[in-house]
Amino acid sequence: MYERLRNCPICKNTGFQKYLVCKDHSVSNESFTLTKCSECELVFTNPRPNKKSLPEYYQSEDYISHTDKGNNLINLIYKCVRRYTIRKKFKLLRKYSSGKKLLDYGCGTGDFLNYVSRKNLQTFGYEPSKVVQEILKIKKINFVTNLKAGKAQYDIITAWHVIEHVPKPKKAIKLLRKKLTDSGTLFIAVPNIKSFDADYYQENWAGYDVPRHLYHFSRESFGRLIKKTKFKIIDTLPMKFDSYYASLLSEKYVNSKIYFFKALKIRKISNKKAKKTGEFSSLIYVLKK
Ligand SMILES: [Zn+2]
Repeated sequence: MYERLRNCPICKNTGFQKYLVCKDHSVSNESFTLTKCSECELVFTNPRPNKKSLPEYYQSEDYISHTDKGNNLINLIYKCVRRYTIRKKFKLLRKYSSGKKLLDYGCGTGDFLNYVSRKNLQTFGYEPSKVVQEILKIKKINFVTNLKAGKAQYDIITAWHVIEHVPKPKKAIKLLRKKLTDSGTLFIAVPNIKSFDADYYQENWAGYDVPRHLYHFSRESFGRLIKKTKFKIIDTLPMKFDSYYASLLSEKYVNSKIYFFKALKIRKISNKKAKKTGEFSSLIYVLKK
């Protein structure tokens, strides 16, 4: 079942324009419309699966953010890129925070936590999916099942490519604010719809990933959302490897036979252009209270 949003989740405006129609390439093959708020320019999937149906769109062996199975070439590249980016993310955390207690919000199968828990940090994950929670148990990764309960606070909270999946992002970020110590740091990474690769691939850009991505942020719309949560963005940083992975998947969607090489080329152009404009394929926002 689907639900249609009548008001913009950021500014409550009721006027929308059609932005793009994208296909779900990884699970359902259904098409979904992205609409853009005519007031604040937030782009979101509308209509979208309701809360009850949304989990069905995560049920795929290929959906590797959530499962560790699958060994095709793209998955193997993804795993290599993931190993590299996990190290980069940890270095980044240490640049902004010396805190000891970390929460990874939307931790998936816990690869990031697995790495950082070996770095003298007390780590916790949060993942709403029951299937994924079972994987976390097997991997002996600490996780909380109910974030709202209890008064625990964290020095560092990370949300790597999660907020675009959350039905109520403002509410979710406000909850993270409560869970963050006063001197704590929140890191949020989301795809950027104003990147060169988004513009190049249009409806086939992997960063849209409908209907799992409910929101499609630009720096402007993300900034407006954050303003409503009373956080301050203290830095915006690139995720340079993401443009390669996004391009690789996008090339697969358009059935390119030389996707491996073509994606390398698009990544190069995307990152080169972004050096001047700041519009990288994905961005990490560093936030403070
Ligand atoms: Zn709006």
